[in-house]
Amino acid sequence: MMKFGTKTIHAGIHPDPSSGAIMTPIFQTSTYVQDAPGDHKGFEYARTQNPTRNVLQDNLAALENGKYGVAFASGLAAMDAILKMLKSGDEVLAVNDLYGGSYRLLTTIYSQFGIESRFVDMTSTDKIEEQISSKTKLIWIETPTNPMLSVVDIAAICKIAKSKKVKVVVDNTFASPYLQTPLDMGADLVLHSATKYLGGHSDVVMGIIATKSKALADKLYFIQNASGGVPGPQDCFLVLRGIKTLHLRVERSSQNAFAIAKYLLGHKKVSKVYYPGFKDHPNHKIAKKQMKAFGGMVSFDLKKNNFATAKKILKATKLFALAESLGGVESLIGHPASMTHASIPKEDRMKVGLTDSLIRLSVGVEDVSDLITDLEKALSKA
Ligand SMILES: *Cc1c(COP(=O)(O)O)cnc(C)c1O
Repeated sequence: MMKFGTKTIHAGIHPDPSSGAIMTPIFQTSTYVQDAPGDHKGFEYARTQNPTRNVLQDNLAALENGKYGVAFASGLAAMDAILKMLKSGDEVLAVNDLYGGSYRLLTTIYSQFGIESRFVDMTSTDKIEEQISSKTKLIWIETPTNPMLSVVDIAAICKIAKSKKVKVVVDNTFASPYLQTPLDMGADLVLHSATKYLGGHSDVVMGIIATKSKALADKLYFIQNASGGVPGPQDCFLVLRGIKTLHLRVERSSQNAFAIAKYLLGHKKVSKVYYPGFKDHPNHKIAKKQMKAFGGMVSFDLKKNNFATAKKILKATKLFALAESLGGVESLIGHPASMTHASIPKEDRMKVGLTDSLIRLSVGVEDVSDLITDLEKALSKA
């Protein structure tokens, strides 16, 4: 079997038979000509199938050690498709430190259709079993979490879920398949916002799911076609191109992030650094067990614990751009309390340590000494 760095470039990818083009062509077409009614080459209409999309789906399935990939127009469209496999009366048990958009989809849209969600701290697995009711059909894990970078023991939760016949989805956006492959740990489905590390260049919005199960894949292909939240072929091409350097980018981001986390830890204006690579991070052991490296995301808090001080830093960086999103080649800086997590009530935020002075970094692949200089200058203004 191919190793990861070979799969990113070769898995599911073949030169185009009509021309020999080494790059997967962008099949920008809505329909396909048939020789006689029903006599076609496996492609009828482009919502249902597209050759560029097929290649991406096969490639991502291989990266996640799955068999099937199913691509959607965004990460949330992919999540929406998974939730459409549920019925009214079913319940979702989700990690409490969930991506804001995922939380909103569960609590504002699916709650209207009789699908309820409960949110629990999954960093300790002893209380998970008692949280599972006869209605629970899906466990929704995100790890590492955003922005607190807690790590959830995927294998332990999958074991509990299996004994209760509950399916497990892992949102693997933050880690990417280079750092962890949840299907190997017992997860039924893996979801990505391909907008982030898979695309990797901040130029596309897309979502994709991987699974080993034919039954689940068939349901998802049916929903993909029946509900129609599909990505365009050009976007599929961009994500395929991004994936070719996934291993190189995530490795460099992880190295840079670890160096920056260490630098911040020694800074006199910084009170706390959240990074699963640190030995004293509460979930370090699990992170070490299930991840190849500790990822490109770092969060830190300030001794002067207020928004005004954080704002000075957020405005002062030059290389770290102030923006939402993550996982691109360029480094980003963000303020969760006012940006990604603004819709969460302050007291709920404070409970998990998401203070008004918490700053989140998505560390890119630039030269790390330049990134540290940029932070040094910005911190001097605080
Ligand atoms: C961005 C993100 C999503 C949503 O993906 P979109 O492509 O923006 O729809 C879901 N989960 C996580 C962890 C994310 O970071």
